[in-house]
Amino acid sequence: MGSKFMLTCSDCGKTFSPSPELYLCPQCSKTNSKSAPPHGVLKATYDYNTLLKINEDVVRRNFWDLIPLNTESSLPQLRVGNTPLYKYNRIGGNTIPFNLYLKDDSQNPTFSFKDRASAIVSAYAKENGVTTIVAASTGNAGSSLAGICASQGQRAIILVPKNAPQAKLTQIVMYGATIVPIDGNYDMAFDLSIEATQEFGWYNRNTAFNPLTIEGKKSVAFELYIQLNRDVPDYIFVPVGDGVIISGVYKGYEDLLKIGLIDHIPKVVAVQAAGSSNLIDNIGKKDFTVMPGQTIADSISVDIPRNFYMAQSYILQNKGECLTVTDEEIINASKILASNTGIFAEPAAAAAYAGMLSYYKNQKLLEKHKVVVLLTGSGLKDLKSVSSVVTLPKAIEPTMKALINVIM
Ligand SMILES: [Zn+2]
Repeated sequence: MGSKFMLTCSDCGKTFSPSPELYLCPQCSKTNSKSAPPHGVLKATYDYNTLLKINEDVVRRNFWDLIPLNTESSLPQLRVGNTPLYKYNRIGGNTIPFNLYLKDDSQNPTFSFKDRASAIVSAYAKENGVTTIVAASTGNAGSSLAGICASQGQRAIILVPKNAPQAKLTQIVMYGATIVPIDGNYDMAFDLSIEATQEFGWYNRNTAFNPLTIEGKKSVAFELYIQLNRDVPDYIFVPVGDGVIISGVYKGYEDLLKIGLIDHIPKVVAVQAAGSSNLIDNIGKKDFTVMPGQTIADSISVDIPRNFYMAQSYILQNKGECLTVTDEEIINASKILASNTGIFAEPAAAAAYAGMLSYYKNQKLLEKHKVVVLLTGSGLKDLKSVSSVVTLPKAIEPTMKALINVIM
C-alpha cells in the first residue's frame, strides 16, 4: 500500500487509491439521479491487519494511524475535537438510574461538530496543494468550513439555501468566505457545488460526497473510547439528517473493532425530527421515497440524505434503533437541557437529547447503563427557533419594592 489509506466503495466493495479528484465510486455513481440518495459513497480503509498487532501503539499515538493525513502540521491550529464529556446523574431534580454523558461538540472552534470534518478536509487539501474548497451547506458545515479555511489561509466558497439561519450566514461572512445564497433548497445548492467543482477544479467538502467528511466525524468515537475508560457505551443518541454524523460514529467504532480495541459496537439510536425523517422512514424499503418536510431543527432538515445507504447498512448490521421527535419535544428538550446543565444546544442537538428523554420516559434506560448524547452544535447559532418558549420580562423601576414584586 503506497498510501496510508485506501478508499473502498460502500456498495460494490471496489478499492481505489485516494486523490482529491476522487469522490464517488465511478461505477456505482453512474446511475445516480438528483431525486434519490447517491450510490457509491466511498469509505476510507486502513491496513487493519498490521494495526491489529500494534493496537496499543495506535492508542498511544492518539489514533493517528487511523487518520487519512500524512502530517499533523497540515491540521489547523484551532483546537478541533477533544470536546468535553460531562457526566450527569440527575435530570430536572430527579435522580436517574443510568449514567448520562453529554458530549458537548458546541465547544468546537465554529461551535459545531462539523469542524471535525472541515479540519480533515482542509488538511487533506493542503497536503495536495488545493487552495480553494467549496461546500453546499444548510449552515453549520458552511460556517465550519469558512472558519477552518480562515485559520489555514485557504479560500472557502459556500453555497447556502437563502433561508439558512442568520447567525450561521453572519459567521460565514465574518470568516471572509465567499458566500453564495441560493434561491432554492439544500439539494439544489449541493448539485450546483458539484458542477462547480468539476468546472473549476476546486476541492469539494460536501458531506458523504467527500469521503473524508466521514473520517473527520469518526474522531468522536475515539474520544469517547478514551473518555469512557475504554468502555463501549450502552446507548449513543445521535441527531440524524443526511446520515453522515451517524456513519462517522459507527465508522469510528468499526475501526476500533477491526484493530481489536473493542469487542462490540455500541447501540446507536438515530434521532430524526418528525417533520423531516426521510432517512429513518426509508430504512429497509425497496425504493427510496422523499417526503418533503419541515422542522425547526434546520441542520437535520434533509429531503435526500446524502449518506443514506451507508447509514442504513450500519444501522441494519448493528441493530441500531431509530426514533423521531416532534418540534415541540425538541424545544422542550432544549429548555430542559439548558436549564439543567448550562449547555445551550441548537435544535438538532436538542433532538438527540429529546430522544434520550423519550427512552428514559419509556424505561428503556436501565440501572448502570452508560448513555451518551451527542450535542452537535450551539444554540446561539439559531435563536429564532427557541423564541416561542422564551419571553423576556418587562423592565422594572429600579426600586427594591419593584424587585421584590417580581422575584417573590
Ligand atoms: Zn462501487
